[in-house]
Amino acid sequence: MLGLMMGKPLLISSLLRHGAEVYAEQEIVSRRVEGDLHRYSYAEAHQRAQRLANVLNKFGIERGDRIATLAWNGYRHFEIYYGVSGFGAVCHTVNPRLHPSQIAYILNHAEDRYLFVDLTFMPLIEAVHGQLETVRGIVVLTDRAHMPDSKIPGLLCYEELLEQVSETFDWPEFDENTASSLCYTSGTTGNPKGVLYSHRSTVLHSLIIALPEVMNFSEKAAVLPVVPMFHVNAWGIPYATPFTGTKLVNPGPKLDGDSLWDLMESEGVTASAGVPTIWLDLLRAMRDHGRAPKKLEFVVIGGAAVPKSMVEAFEKDFGVEVRQGWGMTETSPVGTINVVKQRQRSLPDDDRYELQTKQGRKLFGVDLKIVDEDGTALPHDGEAQGELKISGPWVCKAYFKQDDDNAHREDGWFSTGDVATIDPNGYMQITDRVKDMIKSGGEWISSIDLENAATGHPSVAMAAVIGVAHQKWDERPLLLVVPRPEAEPDSESIRAYLSDQVAKWWLPDDIIFVESLPLGATGKILKNRLREEYKNHLLDDS
Ligand code: AMP
Repeated sequence: MLGLMMGKPLLISSLLRHGAEVYAEQEIVSRRVEGDLHRYSYAEAHQRAQRLANVLNKFGIERGDRIATLAWNGYRHFEIYYGVSGFGAVCHTVNPRLHPSQIAYILNHAEDRYLFVDLTFMPLIEAVHGQLETVRGIVVLTDRAHMPDSKIPGLLCYEELLEQVSETFDWPEFDENTASSLCYTSGTTGNPKGVLYSHRSTVLHSLIIALPEVMNFSEKAAVLPVVPMFHVNAWGIPYATPFTGTKLVNPGPKLDGDSLWDLMESEGVTASAGVPTIWLDLLRAMRDHGRAPKKLEFVVIGGAAVPKSMVEAFEKDFGVEVRQGWGMTETSPVGTINVVKQRQRSLPDDDRYELQTKQGRKLFGVDLKIVDEDGTALPHDGEAQGELKISGPWVCKAYFKQDDDNAHREDGWFSTGDVATIDPNGYMQITDRVKDMIKSGGEWISSIDLENAATGHPSVAMAAVIGVAHQKWDERPLLLVVPRPEAEPDSESIRAYLSDQVAKWWLPDDIIFVESLPLGATGKILKNRLREEYKNHLLDDS
């Protein structure tokens, strides 16, 4: 027997509509690429998102069409999140840190119709626009006075477009499983793959991350997402803020410690979120000021492992709580959070800091298991290590336009490529990674792409790239090269050769010449052995 309640769909437009109706005055404050601080209310944001929906209508956009963004965390980007998804189109956030060839691949693969860009990224767009196959127009996120001189013909001005249309738009009602947004991840082998979120998955994820035990959103809170809106929807923060009435503070392009400290201080920020690398400079700024920004209560840190020294610095030196989170583009992203349980709060400080280096407990809604090589589930005893699998309503079941790729969706579980333990209290801890990728400062570097590029060099016979620990960037690539018999190994020429093919920040921190590489029975390079051997290589150096 079915229940007799209304089947109203869970739609993204309702999150902002609720914010505009119930918390109309609450603020969104944004550092603009033009340099100044911009502030307005949820009511105004809602109006402008409606204007944008009218612009899309005028463009002839249809439901399901993809609209791409290349933009920092700011109010215009926020309006696109809502205007595009609310209209029924798909908001496709693109990571500007990728190599231009990858950006062109992604825009073509997604078949984006329009592209909305911050002024900062004009050089990038100029580099790729000749390769774009489906984009009909490029909208620059600025006003007429700041429109750039560009060789791209017919650039459109965002503010002008908004002025030309009505400020009301009736958000359409449609199936909650409709696609809402798209984000490509390079955290897998091969070309970047698209994770296609739905309205339902996004709304459910937002409801859960707003809870006290996760990000604690409410009208009393002010959150500053350092994590970019172009990388997994800023961990869902732009969706979870309006309906909870939380003040949203967008840092724009200024992510150095001093700028973050000043903005947190002046805007009364209570919570912030980002990858470990970003906090090193904020901690430095906190030391310079002799204190944390006055209202800062906690920081959510994820995307890479949080070192114990970082937990200790925030908590012991500055009284700011660390909440470690774990997740993936494929999991919307938040899957676990480490907020220490009440009865463990009285642990000796050192033991509690140690506990906080774990990635945390699963959120309500997702399930976790760890399995051995045969797929057999392992005990949650804090000892057994196995590949982590996850399932839940905001976990990806298939990649966008990759119907032949089944690897991740057997038995309704998504294989994360992370190796973990789970303890009897439910805390998951990442201990290794089976996917052969490097995560530097929260962004992926493909070891396979680097190896393929390196083996094209005339003096290279074999190449292996591994990620090794780095104090600032968490991991950096190290290239091991077996030279060709007659060749004279030369790091500089290899580095110059690679820099023509990959982004500058992908270049290996060191190149080591070796006689041979360890191979397994099937001829594959034994990366785990190399990782073990060289794990301290860059730490020793620094
Ligand atoms: P992405 O899809 O770029 O968000 O990357 C997801 C991957 O980042 C995960 O599969 C992990 O390998 C890694 N990751 C995310 N959060 C953490 C964390 N708290 N500790 C260690 N690794 C993490």
